[in-house]
Amino acid sequence: MMFKRVIVWFRNDLRVHDHAPLFNAAQKAEEVIPVYCFDPRSFSKVELALEKTGNHRAKFLLEAVDNLRKNLRDRGADLLLFLGKPEEILVDFAAKIQADAIFFSEEVTSEEKKVESKLEQQSWKLGIKTSSYWQSTLFHILDLPFPLSQTPEVFTQFRKECEKFGKIQKTLPCPTKIPFPNETFDTIELPNLSTFGLKEPLKSTRAVLEFIGGETEGLDRLQAYFWDSDRLKVYKETRNGLLGSDYSSKFSPWLALGCLSPRFIYEEVKRYEQERTKNQSTYWLIFELIWRDYFRFIAKKHGNKIFKVQGIKNNEDNWIRNESLFWKWAHGETGIPFIDANMRELNETGFMSNRGRQNVASFLVNDLNLDWRWGAMYFESMLIDYDVCSNWGNWMYVAGVGNDPRENRYFNILRQAQNYDKKGDYIRHWIPELAAIPGFDIHQPFELSTANLKTFGISLGSTYPHPMVKFKAWV
Ligand SMILES: Cc1cc2nc3c(=O)[nH]c(=O)nc-3n(C[C@H](O)[C@H](O)[C@H](O)COP(=O)(O)OP(=O)(O)OC[C@H]3O[C@@H](n4cnc5c(N)ncnc54)[C@H](O)[C@@H]3O)c2cc1C
Repeated sequence: MMFKRVIVWFRNDLRVHDHAPLFNAAQKAEEVIPVYCFDPRSFSKVELALEKTGNHRAKFLLEAVDNLRKNLRDRGADLLLFLGKPEEILVDFAAKIQADAIFFSEEVTSEEKKVESKLEQQSWKLGIKTSSYWQSTLFHILDLPFPLSQTPEVFTQFRKECEKFGKIQKTLPCPTKIPFPNETFDTIELPNLSTFGLKEPLKSTRAVLEFIGGETEGLDRLQAYFWDSDRLKVYKETRNGLLGSDYSSKFSPWLALGCLSPRFIYEEVKRYEQERTKNQSTYWLIFELIWRDYFRFIAKKHGNKIFKVQGIKNNEDNWIRNESLFWKWAHGETGIPFIDANMRELNETGFMSNRGRQNVASFLVNDLNLDWRWGAMYFESMLIDYDVCSNWGNWMYVAGVGNDPRENRYFNILRQAQNYDKKGDYIRHWIPELAAIPGFDIHQPFELSTANLKTFGISLGSTYPHPMVKFKAWV
């Protein structure tokens, strides 16, 4: 054995399958001590008095940590919990228990990197070794067919090169027995939402799925979507849907916290292709996972530019900063049903479809001309699948400050509604006060006469808002 005691610091990799630090620690150390640290900075208030981690996301995280602890206990180990700055509290702990190394997974963006490098510095000062592992993507960073600095700016080129010359490594087996010391350690109980000053979210009866954090639930979702309901074979046709659990995989919340490994999903797609069907849809799920990789490598390549108003393109800052307009958007009170329904879904569940995200984001940046970062910050607070690279990358893309060669990312909201919710069922689901309006008219109550609206029990400005903007371009 190379090491006596190794601490495995879990971050956004809350699983035991395909876990490089855990796998390596179990191979190289006599004793393995898994830890998780709740960092108070992740629960602070940011601009616009937003919670950096809102209650839906925090709840999902707590469930994921709890489940990880259970999965580690099932393998003879435990998960020790801490509350504080990892670079201080974990290093102190490592020194106290005389650990010789800390293994962890590498992140890419600045806040996470700062923590990582401080932890490395502090550890080295005390003679504690550190090893970081790359593991969040489908393609390992070392298997990219180009140096990181040469990552293609355009997605199609990135994807083609990865598909042609990249390599996807096999998943790592999960250690069946983890050598945990027979000793009690000083740790905390699992926190609850009130520890972070957050309220328990109300249970939604309208949610597409009951999202519960953790590896076990993530694996169950994969089993349900691929194997039980057999929906992978129609993914490409259904993925732009808005209602119901199975129009898309819904893997994103589990991927974001690392409860599911993208390589495991890839291997399951390959197995499905062998045992069931291989078609455009099975390919398309992998295609979407490559988008995820793309945003991660672009974030690593461009550093903090992805958080700057000018973006990667260094565009001029012509954005408006009007809080009253912003909050109407955020609260789903724009008076444009397709936008409001999506924002209500986000606020009530912490999830929104990809189609919905593109529309509400385009509305914020193109129709309201509001600072795109406000939208990104709101999503960061709200989304249970918040992923720093995918979120900021997609927002940059919609805002036209990313590296998209297509100039105009303008979404005509009514045309989108025509294409994706022609009968208005999505609006009826989320805005019941408009439900009586038949057919597509539900998307444009502002086009109906006051008398007509009255027959449906609706009064604009009272039971539902007047539209905050209305564009000729939409009709
Ligand atoms: C403005 C905006 C913000 C977004 N913020 C996030 C975010 O914070 N976290 C996040 O995971 N996704 C984000 N997305 C991408 C996408 O909307 C979600 O990944 C997707 O809706 C999740 O649902 P699903 O798992 O059912 O996706 P599926 O359609 O089943 O796709 C499978 C997986 O592929 C990946 N994927 C699909 N589309 C994208 C995409 N455009 N970019 C990156 N990865 C993708 C996801 O990991 C997803 O789970 C954002 C998109 C937009 C337009």
